[in-house]
Formats: sequence, C-alpha cells, structure tokens
Amino acid sequence: MAEHNPDILIFGGGVAALWSLAYLREQGYDALLLCNEPLGGWQTLSSQGILHAGLKYALSGAISPIAMHIRNMPELWLNCMNGKGAINLKGAHMRLQGQNLLVPAGLMAGPMNIALQGIFGAQKLDAQGWPAALDKTGFKGHVLRLKEPVLDVPQTIATLHHHYKDFIRQIDFSHVQRLADNRLQIGSEIFNPRCIIFAAGAGNLNGAALMGHESHIKIRRRPLLMGFLKPAPFEIYAHLLGYTDKPLATITTHVLQDGTMCWYIGGQVAERSKEDNPNNLYSAMKKALYQFFPQLDLSALQAACLPVDRVEGTDTGGNHPPDEPSINAIGSVIYAWPTKMTFAPLLAQRLEKVIQQMGISPSGGGHVYTGYATATLAPPPWNNLTWTKF
Ligand SMILES: Cc1cc2nc3c(=O)[nH]c(=O)nc-3n(C[C@H](O)[C@H](O)[C@H](O)COP(=O)(O)OP(=O)(O)OC[C@H]3O[C@@H](n4cnc5c(N)ncnc54)[C@H](O)[C@@H]3O)c2cc1C
Repeated sequence: MAEHNPDILIFGGGVAALWSLAYLREQGYDALLLCNEPLGGWQTLSSQGILHAGLKYALSGAISPIAMHIRNMPELWLNCMNGKGAINLKGAHMRLQGQNLLVPAGLMAGPMNIALQGIFGAQKLDAQGWPAALDKTGFKGHVLRLKEPVLDVPQTIATLHHHYKDFIRQIDFSHVQRLADNRLQIGSEIFNPRCIIFAAGAGNLNGAALMGHESHIKIRRRPLLMGFLKPAPFEIYAHLLGYTDKPLATITTHVLQDGTMCWYIGGQVAERSKEDNPNNLYSAMKKALYQFFPQLDLSALQAACLPVDRVEGTDTGGNHPPDEPSINAIGSVIYAWPTKMTFAPLLAQRLEKVIQQMGISPSGGGHVYTGYATATLAPPPWNNLTWTKF
C-alpha cells in the first residue's frame, strides 16, 4: 500500500480550500487538496462574487472594526490577478471593477456621509457616469461607485484549478477511513499528513465525524432563497439601499449557458426560508424593482429561484465570529470557514499562523502526488434552473 506524507492535507473544493491550497503551496508547504465533488460547488459558485470592501458593514451609520478590516481585501485579490500577490491568480478577471450603491432620494445622510468619508473609496457619480440604461428606469436618487470589484466566480475557480491542478484530486469521501491519529486510508493509499485542514463548508461536519470531533464542531446555516430574472433588462451590479442597514436587494448580472444575460438577486428580499413559496420571493423582488425602477417593463421577464445556505463555523472557543473567517483547531486538525468569499486570503494567512504555532514548517513542497483523478469543475447554478413567468 502506498503511503504519502504531505505537510498538509486539505479537504474541500470551494474558495476556502482552493485559496488555502494555493497559499500554503506558495509558502513552500507540501499541500494536497482532496475534494469529494466537482470543484466550486455549494456556496462558492452560488455567490454573487462581490469582493466586499466594508461599506456594507457601515451602512448603519457607524464604522465598525470589521468594516475597517475588510476594506483591504479586494486589493489582495487584485494583486494576485496581476501576478503580484501571494498566490497565482493570473488569468482570472473581474466582471466589474466597482459595484454601485443606489441610494433613493430622501435617504441620503447616514450612508452618504459614511461612504463619502474616503475610508471606503466610494465616489458619487453624476448622471453621465451612471450605469448605462439606468436613466431610462425612472430611478430617482443617487448612485455611488464603491471600491468593491465583482468577480467572475466560475472563471476564478477554473483559474485556481488551472494553476494548482497537480495538487487537487477528487475522491469519494465515503471511502475515507481513519486509522490512527491523522493517518487516513483512502482506497489502497495511506495519507499521513502533519496537519489536516477541513475547509469544506457544511462538509466540515463530515470531517469532524471522521476525526471524532463531532461534539466540538458546530455550524450555523443562514438560509437564502435567491432570485433570478431573464433576460436581464440591462447589465448592472448594485446594492439597492432600503430603509435598514442592509441592502433591500443586491443585483448582479451573469451570462446563462445560451448566452442570455440574467439578473441574480440577493439582499433582504432573499433572506427567507429555503422552503418559502417562490411566489413570495418574486413579489418581494417586484416590489423592490418597482420602487427603484418604476418605468422598467418587467412584463416579459421569467423568474427562477435558488435555495441555498450560507454556512458559518465556530472558532476554537465555540463562538461564531461575526463577519470574520473562523478557525477551530483541535490538535493538528483544523476546521475552517471563510464566512465570506472576500475573506479567503485572510483565512489562508491565519491558517498559516495556526500551522506555524503547531511547529510545522514548510518541507519545500516538491512532492507531486499522482494518484486518483484530477478534479473536474462544477457548473454555475444558473445553468440549471427551472424558469417561470415573473
Ligand atoms: C447565495 C450566496 C451569495 C454569496 N455572495 C457572496 C458575495 O457576493 N461575496 C462574498 O464575499 N461572499 C458571498 N457569499 C459567501 C461565500 O460564497 C462563502 O463564504 C464561500 O463561498 C464559502 O466557501 P467554502 O469553500 O468555505 O465553502 P463551499 O463553497 O460551500 O464549498 C464547500 C466545498 O467542500 C466540498 N466538500 C464538502 N464535503 C467534503 C468532504 N467531506 N471532503 C472533501 N470536500 C468536501 C464541497 O464539494 C464543496 O466544493 C455568498 C454565499 C451565498 C450562499
């Protein structure tokens, strides 16, 4: 039976596992990623791709430490895309450099003051600079351009796969057996890593069951029923600010398999049970769209919905860190959740610190593992929807 001794064995297949693999390998660790399904599935490909820069967390009118913390994240991503960052993300691109914030007339003071203080790099646009076609919707209010790029998520996952595919393998997790300590047997191969990282979203619970840690590992699921509209009336990436500190709706634009553009709609309208009647979601979407875009003709649109959970983990103390990555280490087994895609670089940096505290230093990472199949890529969820009249 072949035995492998990587520094780090990572389980997962979303942005958390992929970024951590890339980062740890670039630091010289011999890291190998094992996914149980095609890459990107679950939350990552369902995300809207917004690299939040903190303003969303300051809309209540107060600038929290979290909001300050998150504002450097987009730059970390962009540096990697430009070949000057901690991992190789060359070839990945943004769908847009700056997400918009649409503030209805009469709702100015708090958000505008916060946004325009310069801390978040927001810029108020005059009508000529508004996103194309917005002036024909009847929108009355102010448009801010935020320093929040929007990622092409499927293409980013494909790029990570392209650069690091030699270290990514697809396995059937039901075949993983724990022998002793960190020694795992998968089929006819034995893995004896110095550290195991589970960065598998909700799948971390299965990892905890395998390792005998089920009583220590908790997750919180926050359900969403996300909405889609096709054909997209125009291309837009925007938070529609309501009367609370959360956007009433957040719209991003994506391209379906047949080339048609669609709107993907999250925010408050989507914060509901996954089992809710989709018509309730569509009514909330209609109400929000009529409020912001009263002249927009919605009569020919089709709608679809996607039930999905956001998954958050706990730290070693058993707490859910609000809007930060969480890491829970038990011996040399680590459970990790980024909490937001934008935090993937920060998660990887923090994982490295935890690994260093365990006394594990990089062995050079030269070993190339050739067993099992290389991973395939999951399709984005909008390629597989059931559409109905809106
Ligand atoms: C609708 C929605 C919109 C969002 N929009 C944004 C946004 O705009 N900006 C932002 O920053 N964040 C956003 N998020 C949050 C973000 O998507 C998540 O925080 C992030 O994608 C989580 O990544 P992950 O890799 O931890 O988990 P996941 O993406 O859930 O991936 C888990 C992976 O682990 C694999 N896996 C599971 N079990 C095992 C196992 N036993 N062994 C091996 N592999 C396993 C799965 O196949 C899967 O590939 C959004 C989330 C949702 C749901």
